[in-house]
This record gives sequence, structure tokens and C-alpha cells, in this order.
Amino acid sequence: MAGGWSRDGAVQDQIDSSVEDAVAAARSRLRDGVSLLHCEECGEVIPEARRIAVPGVRLCLHCQNEIDSSQGKQHLFNRRGSKDSQLR
Ligand SMILES: [Zn+2]
Repeated sequence: MAGGWSRDGAVQDQIDSSVEDAVAAARSRLRDGVSLLHCEECGEVIPEARRIAVPGVRLCLHCQNEIDSSQGKQHLFNRRGSKDSQLR
């Protein structure tokens, strides 16, 4: 039956999206709390002083600087954009 297949597909879509939600929630939890021992980008050891100074740090200073300079403006823009859409 063709109808049975499409229903299965819809259930699978729901499962996929709830898994994505769980992954996103786990990621944001990690970001807030646990500092990584090694840079997520280049694998360099992140100095302990930096891990203590920046809770939830995931990048070494070098990679963090690169991302800040390339994405910093974008982040500000996105934050402003989502605030805007909440007001409307
Ligand atoms: Zn790095």
C-alpha cells in the first residue's frame, strides 16, 4: 500500500527532527560547561589557563581569533535579526 509508506516517512521525519533537537541541546550544554582539552579546529592542546579563563572553550586562541574575525560580524547580525523577528 502506497499510503503505508508515506506514513512511515512522516514518522521517520519526526524521529529525525527530535534527534536533531537532542543533539543541538547536548551541544549547547557542552558549549556552556565543559572546556575541551584540544582545539576543535586544529587539535592543538588548549592551555589550562585558557580553559579556566574561558568556560566551555572549544578552540585554541589562534583558531578563536580567526573565527572571531571572520564570523564576529555575522553573529551580531544574526542576533539582531532574530530579536527583530521576535518583536514582530
Ligand atoms: Zn586551534
